[in-house]
Parts: sequence; structure tokens; C-alpha cells
Amino acid sequence: MPYCADCKTEYRSEVKQCADCGGELTASRPNGETTEAFVEVFSTDNREDIETARQVLAEAEIEYFVRDLGGGAFPVHMGAEHACRIAVSATQLQVAHNVIREAIEDGAITSSGALLA
Ligand SMILES: [Zn+2]
Repeated sequence: MPYCADCKTEYRSEVKQCADCGGELTASRPNGETTEAFVEVFSTDNREDIETARQVLAEAEIEYFVRDLGGGAFPVHMGAEHACRIAVSATQLQVAHNVIREAIEDGAITSSGALLA
């Protein structure tokens, strides 16, 4: 299955380019690499909120990746109400949750999204 090593996202076989970073996809997930340790922390349809969330996570030095379910991403969440989801390492879930909640409370991120987990 095509796979983006940067975003840790798998795509349908007809997809040639990562919908998130635009990078070339590799043929499959490398051996030993897994997304199991990543937990989704925030979901939204608002692209500006995704960008803001990425910035606050980067500033907090939290490793994250975005699943763009509208761009042909691996359909692990069929029926999800939001197109974009941000996942973080399970070990950083609590701090990621906090910085995103603070951004929502500050008004930097709109309330259209949803904190998960
Ligand atoms: Zn990518």
C-alpha cells in the first residue's frame, strides 16, 4: 500500500502523492514502523485550524502528523465527521491535548473542531 514516511499515512493504491505534504509515496510501510503508538487528538474540517494546531504542536516540540481523510488517506475512520485529524505520539497526548485546548480557549483555533481522546 502506498505510504508517506513523513506523515505516517497509508493511501489507496491509485494515489501517487501524499495529500498532506505532497511528497512521493513509498511502495509500502517500512518494516518495523507502525502508527499504533499515535493517537488522534484533534479533528476539524477547518484548514486554518489544522495549520494553527500544527504550529502550536511544533512550538511545543510535539511530534504529530495529519490524516487528511478527504484526500484519499487510509480509511481507518470511515464515517468520521471531520475530514482532517491530527495524531500525536501516545506519550505526548496529554501535553498535545493541553496546548490545543489552550489555543481554542485563546481563540487561535475556532470551536468548529473537536478535541479527541
Ligand atoms: Zn506526507
